[in-house]
Formats: sequence, C-alpha cells, structure tokens
Amino acid sequence: ALTVPDKQVESVCPYCGVGCQLTYNVKDDKILFVEGRDGPSNHGRLCVKGRYGFDYAHHPHRLTQPLIRREGVPKTGDFTMDPDRVMDVFREASWEEALEFAGGKLAAIRDTHGKKSLAGFGSAKGSNEEAYLFQKLVRTGFGSNNVDHCTRLCHASSVVALLEGIGSGAVSNPVMDVTKADVVVVIGANPTVNHPVAATWIKNAIKNGTKLVVLDPRRSDLTRMAHRHLQFKPDTDVPMLNAMMNVIVTEGLVDQDFIDSRTIGYEELRKNVEGYTPELMAPICGIDADTLRYVARLYATSKGSMILWGMGVSQHVHGTDNARCLIALALMTGQIGRPGTGLHPLRGQNNVQGASDAGLIPMMLPDYQHVSSPTVRASFEKAWKVPEGSLDDTPGLTVVEVMHAIKKGGIRGMYVQGENPAMSDPDANHAREALAALDHLVVQDIFLTETAYLADVILPASAFPEKDGSFTNTDRLVQMGRKAINPPGDARQDLWIITQIANRMGCGWHYNHVSEVFDEMRHTMPSIGGITWDRLEREHSVTYPCMKEGDPGQSVVFVDSFPRESGRAKFVPADIIPAAERPDTDYPMVLITGRQLEHWHTGSMTRRATVLDAIEPDPVALVHPLDLAALGGKPGDVVTIASRRGEVALYARADESSPRGAVFVPFCYYEAAINKLTNAALDPFAKIPEFKYCAIRVTLG
Ligand code: SF4
Repeated sequence: ALTVPDKQVESVCPYCGVGCQLTYNVKDDKILFVEGRDGPSNHGRLCVKGRYGFDYAHHPHRLTQPLIRREGVPKTGDFTMDPDRVMDVFREASWEEALEFAGGKLAAIRDTHGKKSLAGFGSAKGSNEEAYLFQKLVRTGFGSNNVDHCTRLCHASSVVALLEGIGSGAVSNPVMDVTKADVVVVIGANPTVNHPVAATWIKNAIKNGTKLVVLDPRRSDLTRMAHRHLQFKPDTDVPMLNAMMNVIVTEGLVDQDFIDSRTIGYEELRKNVEGYTPELMAPICGIDADTLRYVARLYATSKGSMILWGMGVSQHVHGTDNARCLIALALMTGQIGRPGTGLHPLRGQNNVQGASDAGLIPMMLPDYQHVSSPTVRASFEKAWKVPEGSLDDTPGLTVVEVMHAIKKGGIRGMYVQGENPAMSDPDANHAREALAALDHLVVQDIFLTETAYLADVILPASAFPEKDGSFTNTDRLVQMGRKAINPPGDARQDLWIITQIANRMGCGWHYNHVSEVFDEMRHTMPSIGGITWDRLEREHSVTYPCMKEGDPGQSVVFVDSFPRESGRAKFVPADIIPAAERPDTDYPMVLITGRQLEHWHTGSMTRRATVLDAIEPDPVALVHPLDLAALGGKPGDVVTIASRRGEVALYARADESSPRGAVFVPFCYYEAAINKLTNAALDPFAKIPEFKYCAIRVTLG
C-alpha cells in the first residue's frame, strides 16, 4: 500500500546556494519524499540532491549522544565510519558533563593563555541565526575575532574584490536574470553540477535566444549549448580577461558616460591593459586573438550581458585579481545596474551568503561592518550589552592561518560547528596534524566527521530538517527553513548548544526562540532591517537590501549608485601572477579539485544519502583518455596521484572534460581525501587557498 504522509512542511533545500524551496512529506517523524515548491529561485524544480538527498537525516551513523575522548587515546590513525570502532575512541557522556568539559576548558584556556588562544569555525550549512550567535560567542565569549567559515575556501576572493570595487560582497542580480540577458558569460563554474537548477534557467535562456559564452579550462554539459567555449589554459584568467578589456578599450566599446558618472580609477586600468594585446596574450592563455576579440565585442555591445562565476575564478593565489578583472569588464561597459546584466558569484553552500552577512568572518562584524571602526564596535558593544571597549579591534585569523597558528602554539583551543576542515582544508595532512595538536577541540556536528574524529568532545547537533531558521541564498533571498522532524536520540538544536557553551564562558544569554535571535540581527544589520520573522513566516522569502518594514526588497542593485564613498565604483587593475606551484619534471601534471553532481562538499551528508551514494559510490579521478592511455591504463584502473604533500589512490575515469595534462578530482571522498595533495598557498588579499592548481604525478596502481 502507498505510504501517505501525515505532515507536509515547507522549507528550503539544505545543499547549494540556489536555495530551492521544497516540501518535506513526513510520516511518523520520517521524511518519506521531497517535492519542489514554487520558490523564486526554483519554481518547483529540484535537482537530484534536493529531491533524493534527504535520508542522511535518518542514517544510523547519526550522533545521538555527547561523546568524550577516552583518556590516553591518541589523536592519530585513520578515520573510521564504523560505529563500533568509534566507541574505542570515545565514550558517551551526559549533556551536562559534555558541556561543562567543552565550555569549561575553552574558558580555562582563554583565562590562562589569553583571548587570542582560541578560535572558532562556524558553518555555512547552519542558519543565519546560528552563524550570528556563533560569531557573537567568539567575539564576546572568546574575546577575539578569530572566527571564520568555509567562505574562506570558496568566494573570499570574490567578496574582497566586490567590496573593494563596488562596495558590496553580494550579487548584483539574481540568477533568474539570465533569462533577461542577451549574453551570459559563465567563467570558472560548472552550474550543471554545482548549481543544477540555476543551470536549467541558463538553458531556458539559451532556447530563447540568449548567447552563452563559457570561459573554462574544463568542458561541461553547459559548453555543449554554448555559443562559444573558450577553453583557456588553467591559471591564465588574468591575461585572457585583460586581453578582452584591451579590445574593448582600443575599439572604443567602453560606456564612457557610465565610466564618467559612476566610476573612479578608469585611467589607471586603461593604461594597465594597454600591454595586454590579444596577440600577446593568445599564446599565454591558449585562445586565439580573433576569438578573444569576438567575445569581447559580443559582451561589450549586447543590450544586456551578465557574468556568473564560481570557484574556478576564486580559488587561486590570484583569485582576487581574477574577480577584479570581471568587475572591471562590467564597469567599463556599463553592464551592471539593470535587469539582465551584472555580476553573480554563484554561492556554493545553501547559507554561505547568510553566514558571511551574519559576521562569521574574521574582519567584519555583521553586515560587513569592519572590526577596526570604533563607531561600529561601540554600536555592537551597546547592542550586545558588553563593556565599552571590550570588542577586539583587529581582524582575526582566517581558516588556513588558524592551522598555522596552532602549529606555532598560538591557538590552543577550538570550537568547530558543522565544518570539516580535516577534509576541506588544503594540505589536509598538515591541517589534521594541527587539529590533533590542539589542547582542546570541541566539535558540534550530526556525524562523526574526519574533524570530529580528532575532537576531545563531540556535541550531537540537529540536521537541516530538524530545526527552524532563516537561510540566505545566492540571490540575497532570505528564506525560511522549517522543522519537519525531531533530532534523533539526545541530539540537540544547534542554537541551544551554542548558547550553552556561551553561558559556560560567561556570556549570560537568554534566547527562548530563534525569532528572538533574528530580531536582534535585524536591529544590528541595516540591510535586513525591514525583514521581520512574521514576514518571513508569511512570505517564506524576502530579498535584501530591505531596509524598512514594507520595503519589497531589491533583487537588482546598483541601479543609481554603488555603496561606496561618493557612490562610485572603483576600477582595480590586475597583472599576471603565476600559480604558486607549477608542474615540473617530478610532478608534471596539474590537479584541479571540485565537486560532482551527486555529492556535496566533504560528502558527510550526501555519501549517507542512499540514492546519491548508489549513483557515485567510489572515489574517482577524471583523467583525459589520452593521458590515461599514455599511462598504459584504462577506465576503472586504480591510479595513485601524488603531490609534494601527500598521495591518494582512486579509480580513473576517462573524461574528455579535463584538458590534457590536468586531472580533476572531487574532494568528497574520505578514502581518497584529495585535499591531502592541494597547496595551502594563499591569495594575499583574501587568504583563499589555491585549490584549483597544484603540481601532481599520476601513476598506475
Ligand atoms: Fe538543492 Fe541546489 Fe539542487 Fe536546488 S539546485 S535542489 S538548492 S542542490
């Protein structure tokens, strides 16, 4: 007989930044199936993750009781998902004991070694309210700005360039604006895999006449529908984009009125791109001069051109420079501030935008208000009822810097909520050694992740469908996620756990409901000042900026001015900076890491979702068929990939999407944790690591 749900709960997808709205169909506290809803970003559509990736919440590996590391068990050895072996490492504890141990020892480290001896990683998988409380705990309870999250690993460079150039780190136009654009440029992104429903809107636009230009060293499904695909050499974004700007300048295709009335710094940029002629750049980036000219003209002269980008742009030591070039392209041609134009860095996790907005970053308080401003600090000290002058005035450490600081003895205790740096950090062996070297590591999660395996105490948290909270998608849409089921066993709500830790560190917080946290947020964050909890309950989603109640919210921004001094955007020139590690005779190939359709980030959720795991169960490396043949291998053979930092073995898949000499590996497989190989070299402006380029050697077997 058909199982009929006894409850339907309207919520949003827990995975990517598209933020599709969905309905959980529930019976007996179990999700039976999921359906798409008519949300602004999906209109009923869902991808395979959203539709089938829900039963991780019911997986037997869920943590259901606080765990404390058994005395004398070293923080070494291979991670295990075997629940029996887990109990060799940890013992069960009551909440009281676990919280006293977790919070008490963090407080003791702070009091003994100083406020800067602690750090916290919050989560882009959590709600806005969790992100807000987490950063508030670090700033007021730990006493420093050592708080960060996975934005550092994905779009930190885009945000730095956007804040510097146009005064706001968020997108200028929603994804759906591709249907209003004449030309859509997708660079360094694979939306079919990483933002699948967004990709369907791009495909719809193409059917209606929009011209798609894909700029990417890799081929993707989208390139088959592209008007042009510029398969440039990895690591050559800046020369290619500067050459396009050179064409636009020399052929007089700039929008001089826009430049004169709405920007500063054009002359410096113009001079900088003078030397980047298409003829000179063609051999560097691997795209012939005529094609560079054609695409530059197409972008500059269309009625509406929109740029979308992803990690292929941001995860380089020149990630900020890459984004600066994209911003300059839009500004010099006036392709911004109208529907069907603009700049859209596609956000990866469903709440990476909201977590950043809420202040889960080391240099900014909520709403991108810089920690160095005395006025800003004073206003937060008043709102948070903490002593005058108590907030730290210097930016804290970023994700990778924290790992280095642990090794040097500067950071001794950490609280990690819902992040998995043991898998997601570059040079993961180094990151794991650092985490293991901490005096005290508190991990709050729903599974025993690779990071939790190194913890002193693990606090079992709630999965996405087990809590209420707001989430902000890539379009700046604040949406309501609603509780559909209860957490298993004695797992608790994340907000409750964060509050309990805060109070054991002397914060004295009293929040009775998530809506009280949101209310506090909107009074400290002008951009969402007009969004009330009641309105979210009623309307499900509201776009910010939304400054006053009744304000409909602005989906297209920068219509009249930019939120910078004098209202003008700023051109910032960029020159060529090579990757930190180039191929050589010992390591002759290039590694590009990323995601695949069925798995999300470090895989802790999707690899425990039955359907998704069945489709992609094993670690794979995508190798060009000719490279595989040159190795003497065939699809399905095991290959070992090594860099100067580590090696992994995994199955080879012949795949022509990667150019010859480059190997693509998803970072979700703990058995072949590819970040053991990646390079921790950082972009100097955003401190984002170079996940998209390092030198490797591939051998059979
Ligand atoms: Fe979820 Fe993203 Fe897929 Fe939508 S496109 S269903 S938000 S993973």
